[in-house]
Amino acid sequence: MKMNSNKNIFRTIVQLIFFVLVFLVVLSHSLEEVGIVFPLIEGASLHAICPFGGVVTIYQFITTGAFVQKIHEASFYLMILVFISAIIAGPIFCGWVCPFGTFQEWIGKIGKKIFNKKYNNFIPKKIDFLLRYLRYFVLVWVIVMTAVSATLVFSTYDPYYALFNFWTGEVAITGFISLGIIIILSLFVERPFCKYACPYGALLGLTNLFRIFSIKRNSSTCISCGHCDNVCPMNIEISNKDIVKNHQCISCLKCTSENKCPVDATLQLNMKIPTKENNKFALNYKKSAIFVLLVIGGGIFLLMSLGLWKTESSKVPIKFESGEFAGLANPADIRGSYTFEDIENNFEITADILAQAFALDTSEKAAQLYKAKDLEMIYGAIENLEGEVGTDSVRLFVSLYLGIPYEAEETTLLPSPALNILRDSSAINEEEFQILKSRSISPSLIDGHSEMLDQEPHSDTTLYGELEIKGKTTFDDLLDIGLEMSIIEEIMGFKIDNSSKTIRDFAIEKGLEFSDYKIELQNLINNM
Ligand code: SF4
Ligand code: SF4
Repeated sequence: MKMNSNKNIFRTIVQLIFFVLVFLVVLSHSLEEVGIVFPLIEGASLHAICPFGGVVTIYQFITTGAFVQKIHEASFYLMILVFISAIIAGPIFCGWVCPFGTFQEWIGKIGKKIFNKKYNNFIPKKIDFLLRYLRYFVLVWVIVMTAVSATLVFSTYDPYYALFNFWTGEVAITGFISLGIIIILSLFVERPFCKYACPYGALLGLTNLFRIFSIKRNSSTCISCGHCDNVCPMNIEISNKDIVKNHQCISCLKCTSENKCPVDATLQLNMKIPTKENNKFALNYKKSAIFVLLVIGGGIFLLMSLGLWKTESSKVPIKFESGEFAGLANPADIRGSYTFEDIENNFEITADILAQAFALDTSEKAAQLYKAKDLEMIYGAIENLEGEVGTDSVRLFVSLYLGIPYEAEETTLLPSPALNILRDSSAINEEEFQILKSRSISPSLIDGHSEMLDQEPHSDTTLYGELEIKGKTTFDDLLDIGLEMSIIEEIMGFKIDNSSKTIRDFAIEKGLEFSDYKIELQNLINNM
């Protein structure tokens, strides 16, 4: 028998490495807006390095050859690496790598201090047992909805996304609500999101049924003390099993003889039933740390060396592989970050035609610089717009113009000049024109539209004026480009005492919708 040696430190170090890495990726993504880039992780975002993104995009990839928006090759390869690690050692990704699991553990430490032994034992066993299958419903819902909508539906509710993006202004209120619920629950229950809601944990949990290394108990040396049951964060009853096949095990090793089990070589993550002789087949803390760093970290390093680790769009859309359109670029893969010039380079359509279709400045320099996603903001200025003019409108227009099939979202609108171009170029007939008319919008509804077209062509970093309002834009920035405080105050409807404050923070403080005021102020700048 031995004393608790607590070699948990290896797991803590690995958890910290991945937590900091993910934080740096997200920070770098935010700082890119102000021109600061971190080497190696330039262009990456949380979506781009999420292995679950690779899972939800499988259907889209098989049926269209394209990834779901914001998902890139990196997510796909990471999904494969995590799957390999899970076949070998179960959901070790959940227990050692996932920063949101780590975050819940840290909150849980406070809960343990407050409630001591009662912690993680509040929910009646029967209810808890049923709740643990909830995450499979979430998994099915996410996969189906992502396949149907071709967008990352879960990010709207994802507490992990909310935690790592709370300062960006990109998190939906539902994301913040989920995060708040998980933080509160973590004070009572260990890893509540992992247990009850995580769709990726649900999927990886299935590998517990067939993994190569699993938690195994030697019943002949076990003294039935129950320490392993008490320490398990996932409340698994280990002391009466020879092999733990529970779908919730996360390979954290807390229960093992190296940590809580008081008898040497009795409970291990092992290929065989633990004995002193079988020690060599066990994955202890140290070996597990090396394994995780080798498979996940080493895998990423290898992919980088081979040039396969891509965290941003290559600006080259996927091509149709077979059928009538084989070899042609697929409009479905046009991303919001594509400029009209990128689209011109990949499709038989000029930036000038695109600018005409969307009623923008058609001078060559300006037309080429517009990004597909710029349309959301430009047309978002129209009040009570039922639908959206944005990236999907560009996809729809390009597909109709070139006669390539594409099914646009129901809410996608086209500006009236786009319809006229399609009819005049015989891309659509009169009947199709009339049908599309019901989902068209007049650009004249955009405030200051005619003045907008008289503007000098914008640079890559500006929209129309010299400043694009973002979450970090302060009132001082507006004053610097020549706006008067009285006009800003008139728009905001409040006196502004501190001009160094960001517009976003000010709006939140006053209970205003930042997006509404952002559009109004941007229009003012654009029309200066
Ligand atoms: S304590 Fe043991 S059984 Fe429980 S999750 Fe961790 S490794 Fe699995
Ligand atoms: S902690 Fe070890 S000795 Fe105690 S019940 Fe679990 S396996 Fe048996």
